[in-house]
Amino acid sequence: MAEERTFEQAKERVDELVTLLDKYSHEYYVLDQPTIPDEEYDKLYRELVDLEELYPTLIQNNSPTQRVGGALLEGFEKVRHDSPMLSLDNAFSKEELEAFDRRVSQRLDNDYMYHCELKIDGLAVSLKYEEGKLVQAVTRGDGTVGENVTANVRTIKAIPLRLKEPVTLEVRGEIYMPKSSFVALNQQREEQGEAIFANPRNAAAGTLRNLDPQVTASRNLSIFLYSLPQIADKAIESQDEALQLLDRLGLKTNPERKVFATIDEVWAFVEEYEARRNSLPYEIDGIVIKVNEIANQEKAGYTVKAPRWAIAYKFPAEESKTTIRQIEWTV
Ligand code: NAD
Repeated sequence: MAEERTFEQAKERVDELVTLLDKYSHEYYVLDQPTIPDEEYDKLYRELVDLEELYPTLIQNNSPTQRVGGALLEGFEKVRHDSPMLSLDNAFSKEELEAFDRRVSQRLDNDYMYHCELKIDGLAVSLKYEEGKLVQAVTRGDGTVGENVTANVRTIKAIPLRLKEPVTLEVRGEIYMPKSSFVALNQQREEQGEAIFANPRNAAAGTLRNLDPQVTASRNLSIFLYSLPQIADKAIESQDEALQLLDRLGLKTNPERKVFATIDEVWAFVEEYEARRNSLPYEIDGIVIKVNEIANQEKAGYTVKAPRWAIAYKFPAEESKTTIRQIEWTV
């Protein structure tokens, strides 16, 4: 029967996609050596999401849609996160952003605002400070368990070893490699006959997950902090206030951010930064849009994989050959 055949075909394609995406994830997260562009990965991932929505019985436990990040390297101590480090749902068009806004407004029966931030193309880490002192840094890993990279993180000059106030907190953000450092690093590696990194994100990941902290120290990594996971414990009512607190504590946040009341204003912000992205000194791959008020975030809640109160708008693919981009950045 046609219907059965369609289901069978869907099942075959789901198997194929899970296997393919697993392979690409391993190359990306474990080896830090992607073999396909992110846009290609996102397209296959979206195809899997669509098929799983159509045929929920085909959802496999080990489907990449059911988990957050990648596998862990041998060599680093494994650390369980106090609360999971989630991913973000993606939107690829204005219509998908509007659909997100409709879902949010259905869940909240009151007013809310959107906090817009740049989506830094790096890797997520969690930092712990005790009485103002940096005591631990852990990668996102698979979202539940990450790698203890404290020794490496202590070499990153943008990360304070001591905060301006003796507070105990966990803070999360994105470690990245500035474009200029990436170009210089790849030039140096090429001269020395070493494999070059595919993009600044992979260079940052390879540098942070290097077993020799001196290697990390010799490369110029930086960070933007963007979340306080135990925020409910503090007298902070919004994402906006959380970032202001981080600023006061001496933690580096990205100043390119703004709060808006409507999704049309959010869209204008998206368009502005899409036009400006090549002139920024670090790579961004989109805009992260978060419901600003913590009370509204709690009300909107979470799926297993991502908050329902946030979305990552991904910029359309660029002509993204590393060499072309390198030339653009150096001229
Ligand atoms: P994601 O990149 O879609 O978004 C979530 C992440 O954005 C967060 O975990 C956080 O690290 C980051 N982020 C940056 N700025 C932020 C901000 N201001 N606020 C909050 N978060 C911010 O999801 P993901 O789960 O990290 O990774 C999936 C990505 O990895 C996709 O873009 C995919 O293309 C790529 N990938 C590529 C390959 C490949 O082979 N090329 C394989 C696997 C995954």
